[in-house]
Amino acid sequence: MHPKASDAGKESKGPSPDAPHIAEALLADLLSNTADLVSFYDRDFRLTHYAAGLKGMHGGAVALGAAIWEIYPGFLDSSCRDEFLRVFQGGTPASIDLPRSRGQAPRSVFVFGTANGVGIIESREHGGRSAAEEQEHVILLHQATHDVLTGLQNRRRFGERLQQALASIGGTKPKAALLQIDLDDFKAVNDTLGHGAGDTLLQLAAGRIRDALRDGESAYRYAGDEFAVIQVGKEQPAEAERLAGSLIDAFKEPFVINGIAVFVGSSIGIAFGPEHGTDGEQLMKAADIALYAAKTDGRGCARTFNRSMLLLLEQRENLRRSLRAALERGELYLEYQPLIRPPSSVIGFEALLRWRHPEIGIIPPSVFIPIAEADGLMDEIGRWVLEQACRQALTWPSSLTVAVNLSPAQFLSGSLTDTVAQIIDEVGIRADRIELEITETVLLEKTIDNIDTLNTLNVLGIRISLDDFGTYYSSLSYLKNFPFDTLKIDQYFIADLETDLKGQTIVRSIISLAHGLGISVTAEGVETSAQARWLIKENCDCLQGNLLGRPLDAEATGDFIRLSSPKGIRTMEGSNRAL
Ligand code: C2E
Ligand code: MG
Ligand code: MG
Repeated sequence: MHPKASDAGKESKGPSPDAPHIAEALLADLLSNTADLVSFYDRDFRLTHYAAGLKGMHGGAVALGAAIWEIYPGFLDSSCRDEFLRVFQGGTPASIDLPRSRGQAPRSVFVFGTANGVGIIESREHGGRSAAEEQEHVILLHQATHDVLTGLQNRRRFGERLQQALASIGGTKPKAALLQIDLDDFKAVNDTLGHGAGDTLLQLAAGRIRDALRDGESAYRYAGDEFAVIQVGKEQPAEAERLAGSLIDAFKEPFVINGIAVFVGSSIGIAFGPEHGTDGEQLMKAADIALYAAKTDGRGCARTFNRSMLLLLEQRENLRRSLRAALERGELYLEYQPLIRPPSSVIGFEALLRWRHPEIGIIPPSVFIPIAEADGLMDEIGRWVLEQACRQALTWPSSLTVAVNLSPAQFLSGSLTDTVAQIIDEVGIRADRIELEITETVLLEKTIDNIDTLNTLNVLGIRISLDDFGTYYSSLSYLKNFPFDTLKIDQYFIADLETDLKGQTIVRSIISLAHGLGISVTAEGVETSAQARWLIKENCDCLQGNLLGRPLDAEATGDFIRLSSPKGIRTMEGSNRAL
């Protein structure tokens, strides 16, 4: 049976989902571009893909599943069989001279191995490119249109394909979809595990994207950790939403890089042509805005462009511009949340940064700290926070500590220990009243430097806590290698503590693990008396959360200290009482 003409077209457009990644990209490219006679065979020597022109040359012999010797009987000839088998068994690509039939001009074909079998390129005309030129042509074509790292089609090809997709649609019905994909936390992996690990992650991510694709969908690496998929000829918006769903799911499993399980999700922005843009640039802008909305909606999700998103973008731009001036204008300030040792002693406060924007009002750190980090402002802001918090702590009884959060940018800047020592000196506070909170993302790279930094801080007498424990990589080796004083269990584990038996087991184990290592444990986000009672029963050393005290401004913190009596602390639920 011969494939119908439409079958040949279909084959030449879409790679088989099982084809290995590089070969798949190469294949799609070759078959849609080359005027030459290209064909691919599996390990059983059966034809799997071919350029439409092959039929013109070899006629009825060309059919999916046809054996290689039906198309190239010369390979049965002992003069070229051995050379062919050598390439087939993994040898270097070779130009093989086919045996000459009577009256025929000499012919050679270029044979190269693929992960699935072999590919063959036959020059259409004798006297055209030589086999070596053919090989070079294929390589150059691939390099010009593909990303070297991931094997996906590159930005240049993306631009061309997007224009083509938009040109091929008519009317106002959305028929072309652009999905812009961005990895969540890629920067953290690159900054902490190193660029080699970052590259590996990008390759694995590209593989997951490719595996999620069906016919009529093509993937591109657009820049850095940004990928894109173009979808044409589908029922929209349903198909774009379905694909976005499977892409998000594909990133839920951890990536294992150098033996470390790394969770990197994906956020996706979707835009449809011609509805959201009639040229490539407009459509990309719309998808980008939708992607930004996905990022701000908590990441790990997909959003489709709508006009109201423009407002969001404008707000962020405004924020970015005004953040630079916020520090000078005195718009940043700190709140202090009490840290309670059960049953009722206030042992200190955690300083939490806020921005009082003149028009917008109070902006939480989760919104502006990422902007400050991206703009390289966090070092300066962090320095201000530390100094401010230390000055405030001087107004409290000298037994109370102050905990300050450090962003990765500060920790990696190299001047952290000097800055801290200088501030302690200038402010005149005892070092053992300061606790610095770091998250695990800080610790992954440059382990020796990190140990040095932590040890130097330790020598200064400063305490170090590991914040948000349980949410990042949770590698126990940090607990072995770093001199932590406190481990803060993330509020994620505390929230369901009353009902979640697994959560209880995890928290109980963390407490016992930390105690075994001589590390004190703080539970974050304690909101109910039942949670507090359970944690106290399990010997948790310190509690923090809205039940025991919400973050308060500097003045209210002074009042809180005065009001907390040795007999009982004020819970937010009511009057003074011991827990
Ligand atoms: P974090 O260090 O884990 O701080 C605890 C967060 O939990 C605070 O959020 C706090 O307000 C909130 N929280 C406390 N008790 C409860 C509770 O009972 N229930 C709930 N639902 N939440 C509670 P906030 O102030 O929005 O800060 C968020 C994060 O921003 C902080 O998490 C910290 O990572 C970062 N951050 C805050 N201030 C600074 C700073 O000065 N520098 C740096 N680098 N990061 C900061
Ligand atoms: Mg903290
Ligand atoms: Mg925390």
